[in-house]
Amino acid sequence: MSFALLISLCVAQPAPSLADGRAHIDALRANRVAPEFEKLGGAIRSYGVEWKVISEAMSEEDGQFRYVRTVAVSNWARGMRISLLLSPDARLLSGTIEPAKSEAPTMYGAYRVQTKLRLPLEEEWSVLWGGRTWDENRHASVSDMRFALDLLQRKKGSSADGRGRRNEDYYAWNQPVLAPADGVVVSVENKIEDNVPNRVPGGNLYGNLVVIRHLDGEYSLLGHLKKGSVNVEPGDRVSSGQRIARVGNSGMSTEPHLHFHLMDTGDWKTAHGLPMQLVDWVRNGAQVERGEPRRGDVVSKRATAARR
Ligand SMILES: [Zn+2]
Repeated sequence: MSFALLISLCVAQPAPSLADGRAHIDALRANRVAPEFEKLGGAIRSYGVEWKVISEAMSEEDGQFRYVRTVAVSNWARGMRISLLLSPDARLLSGTIEPAKSEAPTMYGAYRVQTKLRLPLEEEWSVLWGGRTWDENRHASVSDMRFALDLLQRKKGSSADGRGRRNEDYYAWNQPVLAPADGVVVSVENKIEDNVPNRVPGGNLYGNLVVIRHLDGEYSLLGHLKKGSVNVEPGDRVSSGQRIARVGNSGMSTEPHLHFHLMDTGDWKTAHGLPMQLVDWVRNGAQVERGEPRRGDVVSKRATAARR
């Protein structure tokens, strides 16, 4: 056996680590890259700042290595997937960026919600996005909104009366938003301008919002609320069904609707979403004791015994 062969058998084959992938992302974001990668860096930066990493992985691919990083970013609500091809010695070979189109990993697939969570709206609503898969729920690619619901009102199949150029044209606009369960308000945002329909500014995801702590490790977030409509403050105790705000069109929202999700901490930037197991509601005319609304459902709160 030659000396060279002996050496090659003793030295492990080089393989890039996650840290190498991260270093390339940092370099692309800082524009510290070779000219041929400046365009990729620019594309990454155009989606705004990175709020959090949803998942990352390094895998081998025909003797080269692929680093895939899915992130929540400030200018695109559904998350971005960045894929970098690296050589065995961790040089950047090529890369792509595209909207995330798969479900974020979750440790809560079999979780049973303890809070008696109810639909936080009066009257009848349509589920625009809801459910567990990315096909039926475009929130699913981002960890905190993994199981979130977007709710709007429709009449004769349309969410607006007329052309829908003004927020006032939409049936959902200004409808009361209710506390989904008993709890304590942990954060509030109430000063963000509502958007003109179909014009979405980047930089702010949920717009005006209320986060409520319910039972241990269960927090609800209600977002895109109407500016100035939030009538609770951090520290306030709220009871299930109490009116706390009105439906608006703030943050990354193209038309007035309510965004509603449950999560495991009070800070959405670090939280993981929990399944939306609502109790005591009506789906397409049928009573539901406990269940998860899905895309296309028409939902309403079931009247409580006290009100019947
Ligand atoms: Zn939403």
